[in-house]
Amino acid sequence: MAFVNYGKRHSFEANEPLIPKRAKSYILGVVTQRGDTTTIEEPFMPNRPILAAFDRGQIPTIACFNQAKTPLGVDFGKLCAALQAFLEKCFVPVWGTPAKVVPASGFVKGAWAMAFLDTADVQGALGYHDLTPDGFPLSKIFVKTTIDDEQKVSVTACHELAEMLVDPAINLCATGPKNMIYAYETCDAVEALEFPVNGIPMSDFVYPSFFEGFRKAGSTQFDYLKKVSKPFQILKGGYMPVFKNGQWTQIFGSEAKRKAFMKEDRRGHRTEIRKERHTPRV
Ligand SMILES: [Zn+2]
Repeated sequence: MAFVNYGKRHSFEANEPLIPKRAKSYILGVVTQRGDTTTIEEPFMPNRPILAAFDRGQIPTIACFNQAKTPLGVDFGKLCAALQAFLEKCFVPVWGTPAKVVPASGFVKGAWAMAFLDTADVQGALGYHDLTPDGFPLSKIFVKTTIDDEQKVSVTACHELAEMLVDPAINLCATGPKNMIYAYETCDAVEALEFPVNGIPMSDFVYPSFFEGFRKAGSTQFDYLKKVSKPFQILKGGYMPVFKNGQWTQIFGSEAKRKAFMKEDRRGHRTEIRKERHTPRV
């Protein structure tokens, strides 16, 4: 009987179309035919058929929509306005990554997105993956998970927004101390610190100088709140995703942070997406 082998994961009856419906996200894979069996090899980034269509020099619109049942602890419209003010006042002057943050009721054609969901368990939450249906960057803010971890939704949203603007494809890195490669994430090292914009707490973030190992300690500003004094310094409540010994892992600013991190539900977070995409397969 002829069938289609879909990588190692799926096989389909021969009378199904060569690219069956449920396999359409793999169409960039390599199709080979041997005897009765058609094999579709997974591409380097499975489940990501839509190549991210975003370029520098444009000002993206970021559609924010709230599908969480858990109360946010902040008015959604005011949160979106505060995120916009955070960008204009604090972030864009440093990173040069402008964007228009707009409240919406779902995905908007041509726009990036920030989806507020309860947890990674809600139906389809991980199904959203990390790209919009158009192939644009998407951040997921897990509201219930955030509140259960005694964190603030506005800080989480700000964190995700900042990191998405600097590294929308989740692939940038910098070489740091001890021959480690550091992910180009702008909030992780300082994620415990916050400051208000329009009275709403926002996340501290690092400056480009943070990733420049040639900078001397104390020679310049390394983060917005001026708590970091040298490149690649991880504050007590922070961590960094690093590529070490052939795989992505994370290092922590303190033992307490390591313990807290291990307890968190990290599914759907950028660090996990990076691991999934860029850990070499054996
Ligand atoms: Zn992060």
